[in-house]
Amino acid sequence: MGVDVRADIKSALEALMGDSRVQKALDFLKQDEAATFEELKKLACIPAPTFAEKEHRSPAYLELLRSYGAEDCEMDEIGNVWGYVNGSAPRPVVMIDAHIDTVFSYDVPLEIKQTAQDRYNCPGMSDDTACLAMDLSVLRALRYAGLRPVGRIRINGAVRHEGEGDLQGMKAIVAGNAELDACFCAETLSRPGAIINTVLGVYRYELVFRGQGGHSWLDFGRPNPIQAACRFGAALSAQVPSDNPKTTFNLGTISGGTTVNSIPTECRLKLDLRSVSAESLDKLDALARRLVEEAVEEENARWSGGERISVEFIRIGNRPAGHTPDDAAILQVFWRASELAGLEPFFWPPLGTNGNVPLHAGIPTLSYGGGGIGGNLHSRDEWYSPSFSAQHAQRLLLSVLAMAGLEGVSQPLAQILQR
Ligand SMILES: [Zn+2]
Repeated sequence: MGVDVRADIKSALEALMGDSRVQKALDFLKQDEAATFEELKKLACIPAPTFAEKEHRSPAYLELLRSYGAEDCEMDEIGNVWGYVNGSAPRPVVMIDAHIDTVFSYDVPLEIKQTAQDRYNCPGMSDDTACLAMDLSVLRALRYAGLRPVGRIRINGAVRHEGEGDLQGMKAIVAGNAELDACFCAETLSRPGAIINTVLGVYRYELVFRGQGGHSWLDFGRPNPIQAACRFGAALSAQVPSDNPKTTFNLGTISGGTTVNSIPTECRLKLDLRSVSAESLDKLDALARRLVEEAVEEENARWSGGERISVEFIRIGNRPAGHTPDDAAILQVFWRASELAGLEPFFWPPLGTNGNVPLHAGIPTLSYGGGGIGGNLHSRDEWYSPSFSAQHAQRLLLSVLAMAGLEGVSQPLAQILQR
C-alpha cells in the first residue's frame, strides 16, 4: 500500500535535495554512522529507569545537546530535556523526539555484547536509545552543513514514556508548550522504513474492591471482595470486543486477601483496555465500568450479612488513540523523504508511542522507525543492528527541513500546509 504524494510536496523535497548544503548534511549522516553508533553504546550504558531518568541519563543528554551546538537547552522538573536549532522566525516549531527512559530497573546490567556481525544485545539499546543517538546525529549534520531553518527545530528527549510513566513526559511538554507545529516521534523497530500512522489508545485502571472481611467460618454470609472481583473477571471474559477496529481487554494482575480462612477486606485488579479507535475504546471503557458495578451488586445481593462491598476505579494509564490520514502533509513529506533516503516506506501496525499525545492535541504528528533496527524490545534479549541508521537519519533530516523550511530554498510546509 503506497501513498500518492502531492506534486507541491515532491517539488519542495526536490528543491531541498538540490541544495548543496543539504547534500553536505546528508553525506555527513552517512559518514557519521560509526560515530553515532559509538555514542549509542555510551548512552545505552547510562541507566534510565522510568521515573529515575533525571538521575543520570537526562543530564547526560542535555550535556550532549549543548556540546553539539543546540540552542536554548533546558531540562524541566521531571527530566525532559531539549534544545533548538533556531531559524530566522519563531515558528513553525518542528519537534523531533525520542524517549529517554527504558523499562529496565537499576539492577539489570547494561553491557553491550556483539552476537553476530552487525548485531548487538543490550537492554534498552534499541528502545529508545538508538533514536536518541539518531537525533544527535541529525543535530550535528545541521550544524556541520551550516543549515538554518526558517522556523525552529526542537530536539527533544522525553521521560516517563514506559509503563506507568504513561507518557507523562510528553504530556507535560504538550501541556506546557503550545508552540509545536509538527512532531516526529521515533521508536526503533525491526524492519527499516516503518511509518506509524495509527497510534493505539490505552486506558489502564486499578480496581479496588473493599469489604468488611472476617472469619471464613464464623462470618460466613458476608460479601467477599475477591469473589466480587471474580464475578467481574468472568463477565469481562465473556465479552467479544470488536476485531475491526481492533479492541482488547486484559486483567493483568490480581492481589488481595491474607489467609485461606479469612474473608478478605480487599482485592485489587489491574485492567488494561486498548483500541486503535478512540470511540471503541470509550465504549469498552463504559462497558467495563458497568460490568464492575454489576459484579458488585450481584455479590452484595447474594449475601445478607456484614457490610456491603464497595469498589474504587483508579486510573493508572491514559493514552489516547489517534490516526494520521494519508493526505496529511506531514505523512506525505515523510513518505517522500523515506524514498529519497533509499528506504521503502510502509505502515507499521498500530502502536503506542509518544506521538499519541501531540496527535491527540491536534498537532500534526508522525511516529516512525528510527535509529537502526532492533527487536525483542522490553526483554533482556533486546537486540540492535546499526543497519539503515544513516537512511533513517537522512529521511528525518529531509522531513524536518521540509516542515521547518529552509531560507531561499523551500517554504515551511508545517505552516503553509497546516491541516
Ligand atoms: Zn520505546
